[in-house]
Amino acid sequence: MPERLHIDIGPQSGGSVRLSKGDTVRIIDPEGQQVADLWAFAADSKTIDWLSVSQTRDIIERLFPKVGESFYSERAEALLTLLEDNSPCPHDMLFPACNRGLYERAGYPNHPNCRDNLLTELRAAGIEVPVVPDPVNLFQRSEPQADGRLEVLASDNPPGGNVLLRADADIFLVVTACSIDYHPTNGDRCTGIRLEISARDR
Ligand SMILES: [Zn+2]
Repeated sequence: MPERLHIDIGPQSGGSVRLSKGDTVRIIDPEGQQVADLWAFAADSKTIDWLSVSQTRDIIERLFPKVGESFYSERAEALLTLLEDNSPCPHDMLFPACNRGLYERAGYPNHPNCRDNLLTELRAAGIEVPVVPDPVNLFQRSEPQADGRLEVLASDNPPGGNVLLRADADIFLVVTACSIDYHPTNGDRCTGIRLEISARDR
């Protein structure tokens, strides 16, 4: 891999990259208010492992890692560490990816969705998964309310808001620019997401 690599993910689309342990990836919301769904799969084992938001919540005992804390796999291995959070917007680890059924229920059949966009990236990479894991929803404003309600509000991530992650294992990373356009989640306008990857010094 070149020392630095940019990947621009279009609106309502997905992108992916293989990262080696120690590489970093900055996930940037260039225009603001755009949720980015993120998944990671361990790329170097016969039995596949993947980032598990429930394992992560259990291990860190929080709803979302603080800077310096990690995201853990189904097998409780650290896969990614949050190095920087340059966004005033909360992030989410409670909601699933948007999928075909969600849009059908809202009256929008055959709508682009994060789940299908993830599966497209996995298929292209020849990776088979026994389940579709729930994603990390960056820049998604859906913190639990005091009365227990879970409501997704419009993201307040400003243009250029970003997070920096480090791979703690060799992983296949997938990011989707969330497709929701009938609800304020993405500020009523779906835009793209940029990945800036830096290889670790070798
Ligand atoms: Zn989505």
